[in-house]
Amino acid sequence: MSYDVIIVGGGAAGLAAAVFLGRCADGRRIAVLEKGPRVGKKLMATGNGTCNLTNIKATAVDYHGAPRLADAALSTFSVAETMDFFTSIGVDCAVREDGKVYPLSEQAGAVLDALRLEAQALGVEIICDTKVTALKQQGTAWCVVCESTTYPARQVLVSVGGAAAPALGGSAEGYRLLTDLGCEKKPLFPSIVQVRTVTDFVRAVKGIRVDATVTLRTDGRVAAQSTGEVLFTDYGLSGPAVMFVSRIVADWERQKKGEIVACLDLLPDWDNDKLLSRIRQRSGLKGRTLEDLLTGLLHKRVGQTVLRVAEVLPLTREVESLTEEEIARIVKTIKNWKLPVTGTQGFGGAQVTAGGIAATEIEPSTFAVKRLPGVYAAGEVLDVDGNCGGFNLQFAWSSAYVASQAIIHNW
Ligand SMILES: Cc1cc2nc3c(=O)[nH]c(=O)nc-3n(C[C@H](O)[C@H](O)[C@H](O)COP(=O)(O)OP(=O)(O)OC[C@H]3O[C@@H](n4cnc5c(N)ncnc54)[C@H](O)[C@@H]3O)c2cc1C
Repeated sequence: MSYDVIIVGGGAAGLAAAVFLGRCADGRRIAVLEKGPRVGKKLMATGNGTCNLTNIKATAVDYHGAPRLADAALSTFSVAETMDFFTSIGVDCAVREDGKVYPLSEQAGAVLDALRLEAQALGVEIICDTKVTALKQQGTAWCVVCESTTYPARQVLVSVGGAAAPALGGSAEGYRLLTDLGCEKKPLFPSIVQVRTVTDFVRAVKGIRVDATVTLRTDGRVAAQSTGEVLFTDYGLSGPAVMFVSRIVADWERQKKGEIVACLDLLPDWDNDKLLSRIRQRSGLKGRTLEDLLTGLLHKRVGQTVLRVAEVLPLTREVESLTEEEIARIVKTIKNWKLPVTGTQGFGGAQVTAGGIAATEIEPSTFAVKRLPGVYAAGEVLDVDGNCGGFNLQFAWSSAYVASQAIIHNW
């Protein structure tokens, strides 16, 4: 069975490409080969099942690794065009205040179904449980080698994703399809991932979510900052604000040079003076012990942990016994709770892979693999990773579009 185009990997980029190509197929044979029993397993998990499919603020500055590839992709297939595309396949979009875009139904399944059904309606074959193990050049065409069969194809799109989230199909193996043929791969490391810290005090507040500012300091210098929800866990910190800055930690983790500290501001909207005067006022409350000094200002357990970190103890003391120096220590801890970072939760907890097939291997106007005529690559397999907020899926859609247009041009 020979194909005009084989798409390797039925994830976000692969399925979008299936639709782009299917719309212009005009009788040509196109297949998606997917190693899993179903396509789009990771897509189903995006945005906690709601699929943050793009971000109206997306520009190249939201990307790392090779942002120029993201720039090339997004300037050809923009966020607006992406939203029109999804509307055209039956997914109406809702834009949130922060720029994040979701399907109106807030169901990742709606995005996956629309892509899959549209691709199938256009005649694209979706072949699951078929892992591609190698690509072999045969004259001007390609032989796509799978575990138990091979398929000849005139053109091939590699959209095998990255190594993040192995439980959802992520694997470092897919890169080999291109590295075995001489392509350079930039070192892989996890991004948008939970952060491990020294846990002495954090464990006491595990499961509690707070709105805080997280500042990462490497050797004292501010390396990244984000404000939003922080979740305390038994290994350290999670939640959107932490995931947003986590790339710095993962990059540090593979080099382990210097030290990195996460500083939490538990009341980012309050300045030191306001907090100082409010705690002074609380220290005058009759009949209260330190146990409840911060209750109502912070989550009760977080407040008690702050006092332990600040070494203002025992909690059974009357609040009236607080000294000015102790109040200053409490304020300092609330505004700058320092947690030495020990690493990340690795690819297992990560949403995205930093690193991948080097930008030098890719022609940015076509996403063709320069050294392999007839082979293209799109999505997370490339050395492009975006921030948290819909940017990674946007790169998947845009890069798939650019590669598809080039494939159509060369039918
Ligand atoms: C929990 C979670 C939540 C996320 N939420 C968001 C979000 O809300 N917004 C956002 O923008 N991004 C999000 N991401 C990131 C986003 O899902 C990915 O960046 C995106 O799916 C990448 O698309 P892709 O097509 O390159 O890879 P994938 O979607 O991973 O697809 C690759 C496909 O290729 C298949 N495959 C791999 N190797 C082979 C092979 N050898 N042969 C055949 N098939 C193969 C895989 O099984 C997979 O189906 C999230 C990621 C995770 C893990």
